[in-house]
Formats: sequence, structure tokens, C-alpha cells
Amino acid sequence: MNATTFALLFIAFLVTGLVLRLWLAYRQISFVSRHQDHVPDAFANDIPAEAHQKAANYTAARTRFGMISTVWGIAILLFWTVGGGIEMLDTWWSARVNSPLLVGLGVILSVATGSAVLDLPFSVWDQFVIEERFGFNRMSAGLFFADTVKQLLLSILLVTLLAAGVLWVMRATGDYWWLAAWAVWMGFTLVITWAYPRVIAPLFNKFQALEAGPLRERIDALLKRCGFTSRGVFVMDASRRSAHGNAYFTGFGRNKRIVLFDTLRKDLEDEEVEGVLAHELGHFRLRHIPQRLVLMAVFTLFGFMLLSWLARQEWFYAGLGVDTASDHAAILLFVLVAPVFTFFITPIGAWFSRRHEFQADAYAVRHADASALASALVKLYRENATTLTPDPVYSTFYHSHPPALIRIGRLRTQTPNG
Ligand SMILES: [Zn+2]
Repeated sequence: MNATTFALLFIAFLVTGLVLRLWLAYRQISFVSRHQDHVPDAFANDIPAEAHQKAANYTAARTRFGMISTVWGIAILLFWTVGGGIEMLDTWWSARVNSPLLVGLGVILSVATGSAVLDLPFSVWDQFVIEERFGFNRMSAGLFFADTVKQLLLSILLVTLLAAGVLWVMRATGDYWWLAAWAVWMGFTLVITWAYPRVIAPLFNKFQALEAGPLRERIDALLKRCGFTSRGVFVMDASRRSAHGNAYFTGFGRNKRIVLFDTLRKDLEDEEVEGVLAHELGHFRLRHIPQRLVLMAVFTLFGFMLLSWLARQEWFYAGLGVDTASDHAAILLFVLVAPVFTFFITPIGAWFSRRHEFQADAYAVRHADASALASALVKLYRENATTLTPDPVYSTFYHSHPPALIRIGRLRTQTPNG
């Protein structure tokens, strides 16, 4: 392959991906707005017409925002690559620093920081225009600023550690460096996943053990029934930032914990919280997290193999606007450009994830009350303004969770007393 052919291939994938994204977004907006005046019969008792209308408007606003940020993301990608952004930074750092490792770190950190800054207007718009308009924003400008600074410092720290490790391994370990780099990556991912609940999450939120009382007793009984030992159940002060409610399961080994958003706690009855937790426990008992980790490990192993091959091809650099081959340019180009190609397999990941959701629901039905989980989900759809009528094609392509109608339909047929 020569550089021009590769550049054309890259542009062709980029344009096709863009057209596909915009087409899907257009489908989603028109489908949702065609169905905004009629609450689906299955939800007629639980979702008022104005909540349904709000969900439609919210979905349309978010999808439109997604279209604009997609175009912006592509502009930034083109700027770094064929626009010569990386090449420019490379020249600048090479003129000032002698060690190739430090040049590499300088360029990688500059691109990471630059991308974060270029994304900033979109985060502001998202939080203070869209979320604000629909009543979901709870953040003050001060908190937003503090979060942004913390996130930036944290990413600089993590990117520096990871990039230094990988760059060093690339120079030090010969032909099979990709295997060593993969090991560095896996070790890094495992440490972060393990440390996240205790070290990283508390930088942004306060976590309090769920206090003793009827809910605590109910949850302890559920955990026992499901054979689950953990460091406990925590309530997170999510309401400081957003009115959206959720629950999640995090960490592994002895560090694992269940986290309830305080917003969820407030909106749901005790038995509904139990239903949601039974679903989360289903993910745990059915080993969905290790399955995802293994899948990710295989995927990144192939990624590193591919990267080691691409790093030796001159057209890879020249086609993407970089004149001199280097380890750091190979990494950056790969990380920036790979999503242009992997975008097309999004539906496979989404399908896999939806399968897990159905399995976790089935598990919840066996260990808790199906109708309580169903009513919890309906409340969450309503409070989060999630559309009940997504476009089927859009939903099949992107959504990690099954559409509301199908999911609730299954749960209701599994309820013993109707
Ligand atoms: Zn789930």
C-alpha cells in the first residue's frame, strides 16, 4: 500500500462513518418525534403524556447535540492527522528535548491536553445548556470548573504513566514488544479497575455506607440469597451534579462494592431498589465483568499486534500527515484513527451487552420480585426522560440496553401474579 491509497481509504471510512452516524441520528429524531403524541399502551398507566413528550424533546436535543459533536470530533481528528497537528508538535518538542522518550511523552501529553481543551466547549454546552434546559443539571460553575481541573490532572497523570510504560517497552524489548506492551496495558487496566472505587471515585463524590434500617436489611437478605460478599453497599451523592438516577457495581476481588445514586434512593420504593440490585447482582453472578475483561484483553492483544505491524509501514505515517516514523507517532495515530474503522462493529458490542442485560433481568426475576424491577425501570425511564420509542435501527446499532417496550414486556410476562 502507498501513502495516498491509505489516506484515501482513511477518508473513505471516515466519510462513510459520518454519513452512517448522521443517518442514524436523523432516523432516531424523526422516529421519536412521530411517536411523541402517543404513550405506548404498555406504559399508559405509568407515564403521563407530558413526561413522554419531554422524553421525546430530550432525546431529540441530545441526538442533535451528538450530531454536532461528531462533526467537531472529525474536524479535530483531521487537524491532528492529515492537517499536520502531530507533525507540528513533533517538530516543536524535538527541537527542545533530546531524549526520544521525553519527546514522545511531550507529544502524547500535548495531544491529550489539546483534545481535552478542544472538547471543553462541548462539555459546557452539554451540562449548562442541554441538561439545564431539561432540569437535570445540578452543577454550579465552580463545581464544573473543579471537576474539569481534577479530571485533567488525573488524565495527565494516568496518560503519563501508561505512555511512559509503553514507550519504554517499545524501545527495550525488541520484536515482541507488542506482547510486553500489552502486558503493561493489562496490568494498568486491572490496577485502575481495582483502585477505582477506593481511590478515583472518591475524588469526585462522597460515598456513605447505606445506613441501618428496613432497606439495609432487605439488601443484606438479598446479598445473602445470592451468595455475594462485598465491602458493602454505598450511597453516592450524585445529586450534587445531576438529577439522573442510577446504580452500579464496581471493582473486583475484595474491593467490589455496590453503589446507589442518592437520586435513585429517593425516587424508588425499597422493593424497587431491591429489584434493581438483584439485576446488578445478576451481572456479577453471571460473571459478565470478567467476560468483558477477557473480551477486551483479546481485542487489545490484536490491537497491539496490528500496531506493531503498522508501526513498520511508511505509508501509515505518511498517509496520516506525519513525516518521520516514531514510536509515539505510531501510538497516537493508532489510538486516534482506530475508532474510524472499529465504529462499524459497534452493533456487535451493543448486541453482546443487550444479551447480558436480558440475562441479568432473568437472574433478578429468580431472586427478587419481577414486578418491582419492572416498576423501578419505568420510574427510571420517566425520571431520566429516556425515550420509550427509540428508532429500532438506531437502537440495534447503538444501545447497550434493550428498548423499554421489549425489556418491560419480558419482565411482565415473567411476573407470577401478572
Ligand atoms: Zn444491567
